[in-house]
Amino acid sequence: MFLKILAIFSLLVGLAFSQSAVVRVGKYPDKERIVLQLDKQVDYRVFTLENPKRLVVDIMEAVSVKLPSGLNARVGKHPWGTRVVIERDFVQVKAFSLKDPFRVVLDVYMAGGHKREEEEELLAILEPNLIRVIRNTEVDKEGKKLVGESKGGRLITQKRVVVVDAGHGGHDPGAIGFMGIREKDVVLAIAKKLARYLEEDGRFKVILTRRDDTFVPLQERALIALRNRADLFISIHADAHPQKLPEARGTTIYAISSEAAQKKRQQIISNNSYASLVFGREDIPSSAKVVLADLAMDVTLNESVVLGGKLARRLSKDLNRDVSFRGIKRAGFAVLKTPGIPSLLVEVGFMTNPKEVLMMSDEEFQQNFAMSLYRAIVEYFFPEERRLTLIQGTYGAGE
Ligand SMILES: [Zn+2]
Repeated sequence: MFLKILAIFSLLVGLAFSQSAVVRVGKYPDKERIVLQLDKQVDYRVFTLENPKRLVVDIMEAVSVKLPSGLNARVGKHPWGTRVVIERDFVQVKAFSLKDPFRVVLDVYMAGGHKREEEEELLAILEPNLIRVIRNTEVDKEGKKLVGESKGGRLITQKRVVVVDAGHGGHDPGAIGFMGIREKDVVLAIAKKLARYLEEDGRFKVILTRRDDTFVPLQERALIALRNRADLFISIHADAHPQKLPEARGTTIYAISSEAAQKKRQQIISNNSYASLVFGREDIPSSAKVVLADLAMDVTLNESVVLGGKLARRLSKDLNRDVSFRGIKRAGFAVLKTPGIPSLLVEVGFMTNPKEVLMMSDEEFQQNFAMSLYRAIVEYFFPEERRLTLIQGTYGAGE
């Protein structure tokens, strides 16, 4: 079962030739089935719009679409691809894709209640007002208002809690680079952009350890992740070369070291209040605590390595940038001491390299970097989906 709260998803394919799509409509007693058949798999997303009610299928590439007569629909070309807008009434829409040949299927129901077919991988159930609800997540910082809860509880999916930590802040500027540009400002800008992408996605509850230029102690940052039972902790910094070599460049990703993990394990076992924070309950016998402490640190180590690898691949691919993942070798950062939570620290670039400093303070680079982090996080949490990123400015923007 893949009930996803979002109406945006994709399946990835590389070839970039222009292709065609044929739209068919089938009538059933309980529904109308609209099928877009394509030559190959494509990235796509589906959502609904109101006033009047419309179903929108965005195909993330140039496609020539053949519409059947009798369907009130139109096709629009956009820089990002092709938009098919179908104007019709509905109570509920079930969206999914089928393979061989690749089809995007919309089952349109005029009355609620239906059984789902077994052979399909259900990607989303779209309700009226879905877009409005999704966009509400931008103001819903607490993550309380799940999209799925908005309509009859059909789309309930637990939000993944991601703590985004912008390094330094307040009296601690971090590294200071070319033209007095400060690490704390650069990393906050990237952290906020990442937070926005995650929030707009709708499947994440995002917590920023700081939203402005304030100082937050390192231990407190890890505690924020533990208290919120985070699924992921990501800390954003910028590097300084120890000898201030101006040519040092590239992105480095760190996970907690094994030694630091060992120390944390000891702390969990010996410190009751810390243990209850890690496990979320107080009644754990000391024998179980040892096992659980091992498990928690295993999760942190193993999962961090998985995510770190994804992040490194994604960043070097998207940004054409040298990225090294230092795995769990380097001695621990205090912020990465988050038992049970996969945790990474990303050094975006080098504050000791003037070129890198200018690049990192560039709005577009910050956006691209944050988008790349976002995509890696999505790949990590939803590997079955191979979902494409939101395309900025088109999301819910009507036609
Ligand atoms: Zn730093």
